[in-house]
Amino acid sequence: MEQRKRLLILGSTGSIGKQALDIVGEGEEFELVGLSAERSWQALIEQASIRGVERVALVDLDAASRAAESWTSGEVLAGPEGLVRLVLESGADLVLNALVGSAGLGPTVTALGEGIDLALANKESLVVGGELVCRLAEATGAAILPVDSEHAALHQLLSGQGAGCVQRLTITASGGPFRGLRREQLDQVSVEQALAHPTWSMGGKITIDSATLMNKGLEVIEAHHLFGVPYERIDVLVHPQSLIHGLIQLADGAMLAHIGPPDMRVAISYALHGAESVQLPIEPIDLARVGALTFEPADEDAFPCLRLAREAAVAGGTAPCVLNAANEVAVHAFLAGRLPFNGIARVIEETLQAIEPEPLRAFEVLYEADRRARELAFSAVSALA
Ligand code: NAD
Ligand code: MG
Repeated sequence: MEQRKRLLILGSTGSIGKQALDIVGEGEEFELVGLSAERSWQALIEQASIRGVERVALVDLDAASRAAESWTSGEVLAGPEGLVRLVLESGADLVLNALVGSAGLGPTVTALGEGIDLALANKESLVVGGELVCRLAEATGAAILPVDSEHAALHQLLSGQGAGCVQRLTITASGGPFRGLRREQLDQVSVEQALAHPTWSMGGKITIDSATLMNKGLEVIEAHHLFGVPYERIDVLVHPQSLIHGLIQLADGAMLAHIGPPDMRVAISYALHGAESVQLPIEPIDLARVGALTFEPADEDAFPCLRLAREAAVAGGTAPCVLNAANEVAVHAFLAGRLPFNGIARVIEETLQAIEPEPLRAFEVLYEADRRARELAFSAVSALA
């Protein structure tokens, strides 16, 4: 029998992490060598016990010590250093990074630096440090396999094409819960309304990013780094049915589209299994019942986050890192009821204006830019509150 792949899942208690565990199931193909969470230690220990996993990491120190007290059949690593040790010492062949936010950058760098293939849901890693992250992967020969529906779709579409045939990439957006509203109508929307995504069920942060369209801005940057395509050749198209996830335009004018159910298990499975499509318990799409697929341009007046992301992307250097950090602070404040919905874009814009982008010489530059951007974004939130 072929040896099982040693798989490490970071962020296993989150939306992507749980769906990944579902897919891996009792499969013969993977051996789970570790799991991690930020602080939800009971859920993490339960996952580890059910699956016979012997090492876990919890970033929150208090949660880690509680877990260590109550779980005696395995080892609990603690803090951000514990997370890095989990990656370094688990002997994984494949790491799934399903953390949320720029906290995912450290584990991404560690895995790629060790030459370990990376299934990457944590798009913030690429937004913040895409240039350096991709250079590192190239140097060690580790693969970056996208776990984002649009990028998994593009990856699959592009794998059949010769070099130079593809002229443009398109990623689609559902438009989120506020599609069709004008900017002034968004002043009063509630957290609950923003969390009610029409087509996808996801973690809180990405659900708000989808409502502001920042998620699509982050994904344009993600696509640029993953596929090496310049920004002016990456398009965003609003497609409310969320059935087409990505399109490529070829030199002869033909377009190829990837159609799939709005279910992240498809993208996760593609990243974990590669081209060998495996059976998933998902209802196939009945296109006759769907009837119509519709498309429209994104409204950048109502949703300025998309424009801000593109501007930061083109400015380059530390600008996408600043954009991301300010967005994380603003989304957190919105979810906590401390910032109105339209305040999210304002906080990001003010933070970007206050920090001159710097070239990316080393990862340290990013950690410093992230720290400064958070500080300024916090003040911007307080000023707007
Ligand atoms: P989530 O909030 O549901 O889960 C996040 C996981 O990371 C949890 O296990 C949590 O304990 C852990 N975590 C959170 N903060 C941490 C920190 N500071 N340090 C260490 N661990 C931490 O998030 P999610 O929706 O599963 O999203 C994960 C990533 O996947 C995000 O980058 C998101 O953009 C991307 N993504 C998600 C979906 C989706 O359907 N949920 C789709 C596409 C891409
Ligand atoms: Mg996506």
